[in-house]
Amino acid sequence: MEATGSSTGRRSLAAWADDMMTRPPGASPGTPRRVRLRLSGAVQGVGMRPFVHRLAAETGLAGFVRNGADGVTIEVEGSRIADFISRLSTETPPLARIDALAIETLAPAGDAGFSIGASTGGRAATRVVPDAATCPDCLAELFDPASRFFGYPFTNCTQCGPRHTITRRLPYDRGRTAMAGFTMCSACAADYADPRNRRFHAEPIACPSCGPRLSHAISAIAALLRDGRIVALKGTAVFIRCATRATRRRSRRCAGGNRARLSRSRSWLPTPHRLAPWRRRRPPKPRSLRAWRGQSC
Ligand SMILES: [Zn+2]
Ligand SMILES: [Zn+2]
Repeated sequence: MEATGSSTGRRSLAAWADDMMTRPPGASPGTPRRVRLRLSGAVQGVGMRPFVHRLAAETGLAGFVRNGADGVTIEVEGSRIADFISRLSTETPPLARIDALAIETLAPAGDAGFSIGASTGGRAATRVVPDAATCPDCLAELFDPASRFFGYPFTNCTQCGPRHTITRRLPYDRGRTAMAGFTMCSACAADYADPRNRRFHAEPIACPSCGPRLSHAISAIAALLRDGRIVALKGTAVFIRCATRATRRRSRRCAGGNRARLSRSRSWLPTPHRLAPWRRRRPPKPRSLRAWRGQSC
C-alpha cells in the first residue's frame, strides 16, 4: 500500500483528479489501478452509496462502497478512476457535503464488479444530516392514485425524508434507526435492492403495507383541532403537540383554561418527551420546524 496523499474540500478533489489524468511517462492509458477514498462530513443518509454505485457502473470500475462510523469508504479499481473522482466532486447528491477526503493508492485486487458492502462500526466521527422535506418525485407519487405511495404520509427516498430524528447511532443503517422494527414488504425490498430505483438503499423506505401508519384519520384530527383541542402526534421518532393558532392565542391570554390544557398535554407524552431537552438523559435533538400552509388541515 502506498499513501499518495490526502486532501480536503471539493477543489482539492478536482485537483487530485487532474493529477490522475497526467500519467507518468511510459504508463499506458489503460493501466488499471486501485484507490481507496475516505469521505467524511454529511455523507450518510444522503444517497451517497447509491450515487457512488451508479457512478462506478457508468465509469466501468470495480470495487465497493460502505458506510463506517467515520464516514464513507470507497475502493475503486479500473482505468477510469480519474473520471470517477472528477464526477464524485462535481455531481455529489444535493444533501451531501464532503468536509474531508483522504486518498490512498492500493495494489489491484481483481474485483469482478462493484457492490455496496456491509457497514463497519467503530467510534462515531461523522454526522447525520437533518430531515429533508419531501422531494418533488415523492410528492408526485403522494398524489398519484396509481402509485402504491398514494396518500401515504411517511413516504421518502434517498433524497428526502427523516434522517436525524430517526437515527439512534452510526453508521447509518435501517437497523440502527427507529425504522428497525418495520420489516420491508417485498415491493419495498425490491426497490431497496434495485440500483435503478431512487429508493436504492433508502434506509427509511416504507409504504402503506409495511411502514408506520396513522392511528387516526387526518380528518378526525383536523376536526379536533378546529374544536379547540390540543393533539399530540407521534411520527417515526418524535412527538409534536398541535393546536390551532386561535387555541394557542387563547392560551396566552388566560391564566387557566387552555393554558392549563396546554401544560396538561405534556403529561400525555412518554417521560423522555415530557422533560426539557437539557434534562433528558439522551443527547438533545433540534426542535422541529412547524409551518402552516393556509388555514386548513
Ligand atoms: Zn423523495
Ligand atoms: Zn413496503
